[in-house]
Amino acid sequence: MADLSPSLSPATVAVTAGRPPHEPDQPLNVPIAMASTFVAGGDREYGRYGNPTWSAFEDALGRLEGGRCLAYSSGMAAVTTILDLVGHDATVVAPRHAYQGSIMSLADLEARGRIKAHLVDIEDTAAVVAACADAALVWLESPTNPALEVADIETIAAAAHEAGAYVVVDNTFATPLLQQPIALGADIVVHSATKYLSGHSDVLLGAIVVAPDQAELYDVLLNRRSLTGSTPGTFETWLALRGMRTLHLRVERAQANAQALLARLEEHAAVSEVRYPGFGAIVSIVVDGELAADLLVRKTKLWVHATSLGGVESTFERRRRWKTEAKTIPEGLVRMSVGIEDVEDLWADLSTALDGVTASRNP
Ligand code: PLP
Repeated sequence: MADLSPSLSPATVAVTAGRPPHEPDQPLNVPIAMASTFVAGGDREYGRYGNPTWSAFEDALGRLEGGRCLAYSSGMAAVTTILDLVGHDATVVAPRHAYQGSIMSLADLEARGRIKAHLVDIEDTAAVVAACADAALVWLESPTNPALEVADIETIAAAAHEAGAYVVVDNTFATPLLQQPIALGADIVVHSATKYLSGHSDVLLGAIVVAPDQAELYDVLLNRRSLTGSTPGTFETWLALRGMRTLHLRVERAQANAQALLARLEEHAAVSEVRYPGFGAIVSIVVDGELAADLLVRKTKLWVHATSLGGVESTFERRRRWKTEAKTIPEGLVRMSVGIEDVEDLWADLSTALDGVTASRNP
């Protein structure tokens, strides 16, 4: 891999990390190494233990997050790998609102008598700090999906460490460009690389990044990944790395678009609440109940009604359409993943649909 100075800015890292060395006839991009096995005698040996294309992606994301990275077949493979490390009967503190797959995995482990889950409001820092006392693992997602609550990672991480607990942050929404949890005290960062890192809605991929002072944990995770086979696809890691080359531009543009829409959304008669964590490009709006939200997502031509987020294209969905979503999320909450299109085109499409919602209320 090309040798990079540690002082480079994130934009430069996104563009240059994980490339072959600058030597005659080396390709600029890492090749897609389609191989189930490798010539014996080296570090890799077999396709489940490692792959040069995975390594290039892992090098780039590890540098952006400030730790050592392992890629997984999906974000959920990364999430469940970490939860599986928790000892029998140990307590996991986690947000009451978080990605439903993570919450469901905690509930599943609890139902099978493996762990105890203690769900908290992550914006209530004092309550989270108090909960840390009994925890083996403190799971944070910040901002949360889809409530967009923000945790005080630094304070919570200090309290968790005081209690001897590990701290994990799901950094999918913020990306390492807007938040670096390891620098704030986290031991582990999790990503659904399916979202912003890949950025084009064409990949399922996950990642775990381990803080530099957790070398043993990295070895444990590497060993587990080899044993469980929760390994990434080679083409997927290549696509994700290609997507990451423009991460800074996409995040910057999507965030600017989201911020340009905020005031307009707040002023619209069909919108009763706008939730925005202050950074990033996910905005949740609340309209007048299930029917209004279902109408809104059917009426646009540019905004795509689809789950997932973090792609170049703007997508949105009513989260409570999923039976597994927390009941404390309003029926009329629509989570919007603002893309990188022209913001005036986005607003024209969205405001027409919102006008339709208002009209349906006042026929
Ligand atoms: N974490 C967050 C915050 C997510 O939004 C998601 C998926 O939506 C995941 C984890 C799971 O990732 P994947 O769908 O790649 O398995």
